[in-house]
Amino acid sequence: MSRSHQASRLNMQAFAQEGVPLIETTLLQNMERLAQEAQGLQPDSVVNWKASAELRPGSATEGDIWLHLEASTAVPLVCQRCMGIVSTPLEVNQWYRFVASEDIAMAEDDESEEDLLVMEPQFDLLAVLEDELLMALPLVPMHDECPAAPAMQAGEEALKDAVQDKPHPFASLAGLKKKGD
Ligand SMILES: [Zn+2]
Repeated sequence: MSRSHQASRLNMQAFAQEGVPLIETTLLQNMERLAQEAQGLQPDSVVNWKASAELRPGSATEGDIWLHLEASTAVPLVCQRCMGIVSTPLEVNQWYRFVASEDIAMAEDDESEEDLLVMEPQFDLLAVLEDELLMALPLVPMHDECPAAPAMQAGEEALKDAVQDKPHPFASLAGLKKKGD
């Protein structure tokens, strides 16, 4: 908890100087905007992520701060074909360079391959991570191949109930049925 807290108001300068990566697991439900996409499905879903930063020679005298973010998760979404849950894998692997101001970011953005972030005293790493994950979401979530039709699943449930639920008169009946199959 305390470390996740830290990740939402990180001192990037110190983080880059120390050079020790943050390796964390964050509950999907703690990323509000992403959790909204998952509509409360599978509330125990997690995002595994790693952030590391380093100083590289650059425009600033003390060096530029570069940040590397990696994350992987599987977000439960509603399949737009069968309306079932489709566990959608998302991956993030992105480099960022910090600049001193929005103006510099605007000016340098076009010629930079890496993404630019504006330096803040307490940087919200989790918000950037969540932005990346949101951008990685598919436009139309869908199974590659939808599972069996819902009607069949309902039938299976009913059969299971019939077999499991009832005391002994039914148990023998279920046994007979199985033999019949
Ligand atoms: Zn489907």
